[in-house]
Formats: sequence, C-alpha cells, structure tokens
Amino acid sequence: MKSRTLSVKAGIESDQQFGAVIPPIYLSSNYTFEDLGKPRCHDYTRSGNPTRDLLGKALGELEGGKDAVVTSSGMGAVTLLCHLLCPGDLLFAPHDCYGGTHRLFTHLSKKGNFKVLFEDQTKNNILKKIQSKRPKILWIETPSNPLLRIVDIEELSKAAHCVGTIVVVDNTFLSPILQKPLELGADLVLHSTTKFINGHSDVVGGAVIGKDQELVNQIFWWANCLGLTGSPFDSFLTLRGVRTLAPRISEHQKNTCEIINFLKTHPLVKKIHYPGLSNHPGYEVAKKQQKGFGSLLSIEVFGGLKKVREFLSKLRLFSLAESLGGVESLIAHPETMTHAGMEEKARREAGITEGLLRISVGIEDPCDLIEDLKQALDCALESPQPLESLEQCEVFNQI
Ligand code: PLP
Repeated sequence: MKSRTLSVKAGIESDQQFGAVIPPIYLSSNYTFEDLGKPRCHDYTRSGNPTRDLLGKALGELEGGKDAVVTSSGMGAVTLLCHLLCPGDLLFAPHDCYGGTHRLFTHLSKKGNFKVLFEDQTKNNILKKIQSKRPKILWIETPSNPLLRIVDIEELSKAAHCVGTIVVVDNTFLSPILQKPLELGADLVLHSTTKFINGHSDVVGGAVIGKDQELVNQIFWWANCLGLTGSPFDSFLTLRGVRTLAPRISEHQKNTCEIINFLKTHPLVKKIHYPGLSNHPGYEVAKKQQKGFGSLLSIEVFGGLKKVREFLSKLRLFSLAESLGGVESLIAHPETMTHAGMEEKARREAGITEGLLRISVGIEDPCDLIEDLKQALDCALESPQPLESLEQCEVFNQI
C-alpha cells in the first residue's frame, strides 16, 4: 500500500467488539490477569496500551520499519536513544540540530554519560571523520533545524555501517510522507510527533521507529523502565492526525512555494534558506532522497533584531510561536526561542543569527498569508537593498 492509503487506513475496522470503524480509545491504566501468572496482551499502560499500539503500528508501517516506540514527547524519544550509550561511547551529532536535542546531548555529556561531537555534517571530510572517530551513534537531522541544511542519508549511513555505528535520523521536518530514512540505510528514525504527524498543535509526542527488532526491543525496554511512553489520549489524537498527513503535506508544500516566490521579491529579505531553491547547497541531495521539499523555511532580514521586531509586531495571520508542522502558519525567532537553550558560541557556529526567522507554512489560503507577510515586511522596510539571488521556486510533489 502507498503511504497515503496506509495513513488513512491505520487501525480502521480493528475493533472486534462492536465493529467500530474508528478504533476506540483505551484509557484504562491497568488490565486484569486471566489467572495467576496469566497476563493478557496488556497489564499496565506504561508498558503497553492498545491505543498506543495502533499508533506505533501505523508509524512503523509508514516509515517501513518493524515497530515504533511511542513516547510522551520528541525529547522523550531523544532521551531514550541516549540510553543506548555508555560512558566513553561517542555520539556524533550535527552542530545545528534542534536546540533541545543539542542541550540534552551537551548536558548529559558534561555529566559523563557519553562523549559528544558536534560537527557541520555537510562538510566534505565528514565520511572520513565518521570512519576515524567510530562513533556508537551517528545522529542525523536532515533538513536541519532551523537552517534546512541537507545531508545524504545513504552516503553517511554506508560510511557509518563500515565502522559498526548506529544511524539515527530525526525525520520530524519531513515526515515519512516526504522522506523514509530506513529505506535510505538508517537504523532508527525519530519523530517529534508534535509536529506534522499530529499536525494540529494539540498534542506533544514522539516516536522511535527501527528495522531491527532486537534494537527496537531494547528501546521498548528503556521506554517502560524510564516511564517515557505516550498517553492513550495523545495516541488517539495523533492517530487521527496521521489520517490526513499526506493531503496536509501537499497543501503545506503548495503554499510554501507561493510564499517563497513572494519573499524573494521583497527588499527586506536578505536570504532564504529552503532546499527547494536550486542555489541551496543541498538541492540535488534533497531532490534525490525526498519526495518534496517540505514546508519549513528560514529567512534572514536586513537590519537584524530591530527589523525582526518591527516585522513580527505587524504580522496578523502568522503566530509568533515555537513548534512547526501544524495546520496554522507559525513564525519563530530561533535566537531567542527554539535555540535559546544552546550556548551563544554554538548558535553562531551553527549559523543562527539575530536576523534569522523560521517559518512553518500552514494550509490557510496562500493569498491571505502572502498579504500578511507583505504588509508586515513593508512596515519594517526603510532602505531597500537588492536580494542575493532570484531563482524561481517550483512545486515538487511526488506524494
Ligand atoms: N526534533 C526536532 C527536529 C524538533 O524540532 C523538536 C521540537 O521542536 C524535537 C525533536 C523535540 O520534540 P518535542 O518538542 O515534541 O519534545
């Protein structure tokens, strides 16, 4: 089945008792034993729950994996994977990964739980580095947050496997509709399901999906042990969100293209970071490994923080908020919001500046979104300057 069908059909007609089309929600925290020493499928919701199992099955199928461990947040999923590491093991991560991930890795490594190395994974010497450093885990985030840098999952995975490294890909920015890291060679895929997978900004959740049952079992064990599994109600809502994932993503992408074609004509916009622009360094790799360029972009405006403030204060439709991937359009200032938890030096090394804004394009009418951006940019504009480049953004949608 195609991803679009898989996501709509997930759990449909699975109810044996009443034949409900949509699977019921099981909120019960515990389950009776048939007899002493004879538990049923489930005994306690922290370790297993029918509603959460359905979401896990759906995510596992969508990513082409064996199974999925559903967690209470994306960071819960990151925390789980940190438990695969022992003191002395090396975690090799991108220097511009999500700020919360960066903060967790930094602080756990300071406590001696493992060693961490942050690098720009788009650099030419990256394959050699993986092979010489022999990390236990190679962490990939492509496109990266917030600068949308792209790395070649297949190439990096091959190099990593030569030295026995486990490859983890944070696929939050694209979802399995646009990118399937396990098919490209990764061992584990991680999601903040808070984002596109749920898609309605009303659940915080996460998941880890793997192809090797033994590795997945280890992660299940840690999830139960640490108490990081997702709640039944959140799982129910997230599964509802999954059903519309493919059409939502199509709409998100269409709007993004229109918005970019407007933004590149506006004199306050200094730079646009979007892998769908042919001058983006990751354009070719993104075209090869993705089924669309997604709906996240970041822009730099002339005039730094002052102009950022003026522009943001005039926006009416875009909400100034963290998170991404919901049906509503959002804008965030990574320097003071999503990436504030990183040390300033690390932010600068990652290319995060005061004038950088990350946009998560929603599925509203694109004319309204463009009008909103235009009036806010116009208000902040004083001395127009030319754009760096003027290439056309075209819709790429192979969903
Ligand atoms: N990974 C990425 C790429 C993210 O953007 C986020 C949150 O923004 C996370 C992980 C963490 O997810 P959560 O906020 O659900 O804990």
